[in-house]
Amino acid sequence: MAGAHLDSVSAGPGINDNGSGSAAILETVLAVSREGLKPTQHLRFAWWGAEELGILGSRHYVNRLPSTERSKIDAYLNFDMVGSPNPGYFVYDDDRRLEAVFKDWFAAKGVSTEIETEGDGRSDHASFQRVGIPVGGLFTGAGRTKTAAQAQKWGGTAGQAFDRCYHRSCDTTANINDTGLDRNSDAIAHAIWTLGAPS
Ligand SMILES: [Zn+2]
Repeated sequence: MAGAHLDSVSAGPGINDNGSGSAAILETVLAVSREGLKPTQHLRFAWWGAEELGILGSRHYVNRLPSTERSKIDAYLNFDMVGSPNPGYFVYDDDRRLEAVFKDWFAAKGVSTEIETEGDGRSDHASFQRVGIPVGGLFTGAGRTKTAAQAQKWGGTAGQAFDRCYHRSCDTTANINDTGLDRNSDAIAHAIWTLGAPS
């Protein structure tokens, strides 16, 4: 299962947070459909409401799932901000198998990654983690500042936030780094396919 929150804060339009993650998983759905791919596992996608109000949508969903339904979810992948304008490449480290699928993809593209800590436990994956479902995901950074070492390996501007428009009115379509969004979207499609149709 993969999910992204579709709502934004009232202060801004929420294009990076989280039009980016919502669009990335939607494009994955469309690609699977267009190509007529037949996954061996069921793929399930969710676009959550009210994440910004305290992950209400995903919590409601998980709370309503009977335990037999919960046990059918092998993994939940969360994508909340994957096109930050001054991007970093962060991978959730909650589950080793899921983390490896993403890390290996980025490594093969020559992009180094770091463990995600800025949003730890604050997005919709927390609802699934709470009931023992393995979670994974990607993140390109919010209000934290990119260090000199990070700018050296990832490009962009040191001393500046990953997303200067985080939760602000300037989080518009101009607030997206195309390379970051492109890499993350490809990594997401790869992960969903790798996990959905294991060879
Ligand atoms: Zn968000």
